[in-house]
Amino acid sequence: MIEIDGAEGEGGGQVLRTALALSLIERKPFRIANIRAKRQKPGLLRQHLTAVQAAAAIGDAAVEGAAVGSQTLTFVPQALRGGDYAFAIGTAGSTMLVLQTILVPLALASSASTVEIEGGTHNPSAPPFDFVEHAYLPLLRRMGAEASIELVRPGFFPAGGGKICVAIRPAKRFGRLELEQRGELVSRRARAVVANLPYTIAQREARVVAETLGWNENEVEAHTINGSLGPGNAVSVFVAFEQVTDVFTGFGAKGISAEKVAHDAAIEAKRYINSGAAVGEHLADQLLLPLAVGDGGSFTTTPLSTHATTNIEVIRKFVDVAIETTAIANGVVRVSVSS
Ligand code: AMP
Repeated sequence: MIEIDGAEGEGGGQVLRTALALSLIERKPFRIANIRAKRQKPGLLRQHLTAVQAAAAIGDAAVEGAAVGSQTLTFVPQALRGGDYAFAIGTAGSTMLVLQTILVPLALASSASTVEIEGGTHNPSAPPFDFVEHAYLPLLRRMGAEASIELVRPGFFPAGGGKICVAIRPAKRFGRLELEQRGELVSRRARAVVANLPYTIAQREARVVAETLGWNENEVEAHTINGSLGPGNAVSVFVAFEQVTDVFTGFGAKGISAEKVAHDAAIEAKRYINSGAAVGEHLADQLLLPLAVGDGGSFTTTPLSTHATTNIEVIRKFVDVAIETTAIANGVVRVSVSS
């Protein structure tokens, strides 16, 4: 039984999600204590509980400690099965983080899957829908798994009510991913969206992104999106190079001006663009898992986050893999994963 201390490193939900994914792929049981010890409300929230239930469903797992508030969990998977699955978080918790738990396992299962998840689709501190669609999934496809995602309904905090649908055709094994060079810039654009809020918010945000990045007015868009249960606002900056697309997102919140939301997202994108690295902070921590359970690979990125360094530690507990990080010039880091 692999023992995980959920308080180590980042001490958040990702420790649990990565452990669940690896447990399913490697068919290794684990026990985790101190779940989300470094978060304001430690233990399992509805979103993490749904991730556990989803992992248990696809892995036919025996689970102890699966309850809201639980800070310990034992997970013993029996199998890994593709199929048609539906999960509802019941709050505005992130559908993308539930997906993060089961996507890579299902992409290595022996049969195809469809997955519907209800909850939030554009949550702060989680990968937003556009990031998964435009940045993460294309790289998973390059490793050999076919996966597509559809936004059925947007869902924002606190109302939730969003829904996504994912179709996965698995790979036998993930191929190597070499992403040390990002190639030439192919396209760039930004999109500010509002739901049940004044359109002028999105217009102001689009203008701030254009000003901050020195982009033309025709490279930024403002949209009203329909179908959301409650109000919501997000600004996404898309930067596509020949080898990789990355997406940087700001989320509207009460008490934060539209200008600040847009400016922060633009600055994050600018830092990435100027760095010369192939992948940004979030792609970096999320790529480690598929690289570690496949044929490995390498990428360059901006300085590693604690999400990334913590993920490396969790991965090492489940998989015998060499993960090397080397500082190159100007804060760029090269990460290489070899089995
Ligand atoms: P945790 O904080 O442990 O629940 O993990 C959050 C996960 O969401 C990590 O994999 C982060 O990289 C990811 N994440 C947070 N914000 C973003 C964002 N703006 N874009 C993409 N991924 C994100």
